[in-house]
Amino acid sequence: MKIRLPDGKEIELPEGSTARDVAEKISRSLAKEAVGAIVNGEVYDLFKPLPEGAEVRILTRKDPEYQLLFRHTLAHVMAQAVKEFFAKKGYDPEEVKLGIGPVIENGFYYDIDAPEPISDADLPEIEKLMQRIIKRNLPLRRYVLEREEALARYRGKDPYKTELIEDLPEGEEISFYEQEGFTDLCRGPHVPSTGKIPPHFKLTHVAGAYWRGDESRPMLQRIYGVAFRTKEELEHYLWQLEEAKKRDHRRLGRQLELFHIDPMVGKGLVLWLPKGNVLREELIAFMREEQVKRGYQLVTTPHIGSLELYKTSGHYPYYAESQFPPMELEDGEAYLLKPMNCPHHVRIYAMRPRSYRELPLRLAEFGTVYRFEQSGELHGLTRVRGFTQDDAHIFCSPEQVKEEFLGVLDLTLKVFGTLGMGDFRVRIGVRDPESDKYVGDAEHWAVAERQIQEACDEAGLDYTIEEGDAAFYGPKLDFVVKDVLGREWQLGTIQVDYNLPERFDISYKGPDGEPHRPVMIHRAPFGSLERFIGILIEHFAGEFPLWLAPVQVVVVPITDRHHDYARKVRAELEAAGLRVEVDDRPERMNAKIRDAETQKVPVILVVGDKEQEEGTVAVRDRRSGERATRPLAEVVQDLAERVRTRARE
Ligand SMILES: [Zn+2]
Ligand SMILES: [Zn+2]
Repeated sequence: MKIRLPDGKEIELPEGSTARDVAEKISRSLAKEAVGAIVNGEVYDLFKPLPEGAEVRILTRKDPEYQLLFRHTLAHVMAQAVKEFFAKKGYDPEEVKLGIGPVIENGFYYDIDAPEPISDADLPEIEKLMQRIIKRNLPLRRYVLEREEALARYRGKDPYKTELIEDLPEGEEISFYEQEGFTDLCRGPHVPSTGKIPPHFKLTHVAGAYWRGDESRPMLQRIYGVAFRTKEELEHYLWQLEEAKKRDHRRLGRQLELFHIDPMVGKGLVLWLPKGNVLREELIAFMREEQVKRGYQLVTTPHIGSLELYKTSGHYPYYAESQFPPMELEDGEAYLLKPMNCPHHVRIYAMRPRSYRELPLRLAEFGTVYRFEQSGELHGLTRVRGFTQDDAHIFCSPEQVKEEFLGVLDLTLKVFGTLGMGDFRVRIGVRDPESDKYVGDAEHWAVAERQIQEACDEAGLDYTIEEGDAAFYGPKLDFVVKDVLGREWQLGTIQVDYNLPERFDISYKGPDGEPHRPVMIHRAPFGSLERFIGILIEHFAGEFPLWLAPVQVVVVPITDRHHDYARKVRAELEAAGLRVEVDDRPERMNAKIRDAETQKVPVILVVGDKEQEEGTVAVRDRRSGERATRPLAEVVQDLAERVRTRARE
């Protein structure tokens, strides 16, 4: 049969040849280096026979696909090690039954039905057994069985594999992979031998998992592992995991009393506590200020809208599965809990005839919307059922798109810059040239796509163009922001929309006296305040810059006789607009300082005899590390200035 190589060359090989044969045909050294292949765009191992006429590229350890191969083999190695683990305890290895063991992001898992529960404490021992299997460099082997043969092997012994085989579609090849002492029903692909697995892995935890995700079926134990090509990658990942746990916004939200989600109030509905609400109010004030500077006008619209409104916009019924069901009234009227602010804003635009002189019209609202998320999808602040968007809609002429993008880019960069989220990439989503799903004038699309790129060029932003990433109603741009842990978050989407102006039939009178269709731009730099604050909590690990901190200063009097002076200090700071607490509990000074630090308060001011006499305060600044005794008036002025300028710190 014929095989085509990446350089276009064709080679002739006997029927049933594998990628290993291809590698050997190319060179002996490549055959030694080979760990797998890309065959017609799919990852293959060196065992599986190639299809006729296949295009084959050999993979070595340098290729990213290598990870997929060794992570999968590692799952098998883990299953083998678990069998050995129980054999050592005196069990028959056959009593360890295996569910499925796929590759996942950064690693793998295996679902196991073991004769005894496996705990996290057993994992180091299993890891040791795995390392031994890797060291022994056991070669793998692939073979195929007929359905009946395969079933005969498991029937009556292993209900899981029996069921998996029975569920395979008729005619599908039933393949097995075997290394000394271990066989599994498996589609592959795998590395050629266990010695090709880098020893940089870790079993992270055990969790319960229902067989095939079905609550009525038996509960298996799922062992999770992560695996990387190098020790550095593994260590970085484990650090990230540990750090992410420490920074988990749900944990910090409780510890710092920022928000609460109460099952009696409802799933995915956030109660902002006084301290968390400060974050919210500060972000809103910041955004409002920046928007007003840029010519936005603020509006307020209700939390519900008539079903008619959403039928006109198309949000109903097209997105019905992500909305709370409509509220039907007796007289046939129906209302929907607001899933989007856009239609309300369109109706503000449409309330009277508009002239080109009014454009661009920028309507902004901190609008709370409700979406129906499955309860299994809910997660702290990042996946909720009710959230507030820093939403705005810009109505402009097709020619104004670029100028408006420049304005929104400027605003978004200001926001990210102030919050220390300067590490991001920009993606522009444009049409798929092959598709005809797009609404609106093709010429307008082309102009807008060009204007967006020009705006980015002018703003000095690097960007990638993602073909086919545009919504059916318009091209878009989004920011993918990296947090301190290197995790990426999609934020600040700017979306052009030709659809809603059409559906609501809105227009403006042009300089020519004729009616024209405006373009709409949706934009929300934070997106959802809830999600954004969740990200911020983790980004800052709860240690917010001074201007955002719920409590900015704690004043610690050393003894009772300094209480009056402490209150005077608080009064002066409050007069300068700062959020201050006096810790006048009958505790020792060090305990008070420690508590303020646990609460991640940015500035602690200690006052005793000397400070009282001299009108000074002893400053402990968490962010700058400053420790100094300074005149009160000077400290008040400095802190107020840092807050006023929303200093980065
Ligand atoms: Zn497998
Ligand atoms: Zn919108």
